[in-house]
Amino acid sequence: MKFRILTLFPETIKPYLDSSIIGRAQSAGIIQIEYFNIRDYSKDKHKRVDDTPYGGGFGMVMAPQPLYDCFKASQSGLSGKTLKIYMSPKGKLFNHETAARLKEYDNLIILSGHYEGVDQRVLDEFIDEEISVGDYVLTGGELPSAIVVDAVSRLIDGVLPDSECYENESIASGLLEYPQYTKPAVFEGKEVPEVIRNGDHAQIKKWQRKMSLRYTFYNRPDLLKKTNLSKDDILYLEYLKNKK
Ligand code: SAM
Repeated sequence: MKFRILTLFPETIKPYLDSSIIGRAQSAGIIQIEYFNIRDYSKDKHKRVDDTPYGGGFGMVMAPQPLYDCFKASQSGLSGKTLKIYMSPKGKLFNHETAARLKEYDNLIILSGHYEGVDQRVLDEFIDEEISVGDYVLTGGELPSAIVVDAVSRLIDGVLPDSECYENESIASGLLEYPQYTKPAVFEGKEVPEVIRNGDHAQIKKWQRKMSLRYTFYNRPDLLKKTNLSKDDILYLEYLKNKK
């Protein structure tokens, strides 16, 4: 998959996306991330990219001309299915289902806004979808763009060692994940629960399921309404409710 990120500040996210798993996925040629610096497309002699908002108000708005030309350039040489996204607090909330849907595209062009936002005419001309990463406002769309690239990339075959890596994880599995432990078995006087050290896989699975249910019950009870629950799950949740 090809990601093309339109931004005024590529240096803020490139080091992150060039590191660790996403960096290795790029080196292996599984994904490709390109940066289009919007300022490079400004025809202003001072390379300005913003101006004051019509109607008054605080701050500056990203001007249409550099964005328009940058978008045009970012669309060239692509084949297959392309989706053009604007990262925005006004967008639909990003979640696992959105990441799974976006994974089906060949190319994602992602616009990171800045300042007070972007001239609406450019959005009307180019954008297919506006996506928000949460109900809060950040100073720029760079982190949100990196979040989308990261979350979508790890669903692409070959980025993680096995699809099981994400299928059993929080959210994708329908529940939050159980607690994880590694060696040593005792650290600072605290022991890893005996049940997951004794090699009894049926018992381990039962314990993990209960822990997942417990985490979800306390932190994200909304998920329980959407997930398939067994009779044992329901009994355990009743027990947690009565314990409250
Ligand atoms: N004035 C805008 C509003 O009230 O909707 C907020 C602009 S924000 C300060 C600047 C840029 O940060 C936005 O253009 C957008 O690209 C990005 N941004 C901020 N919060 C975001 C969020 N929750 N999700 C996605 N992008 C966000």
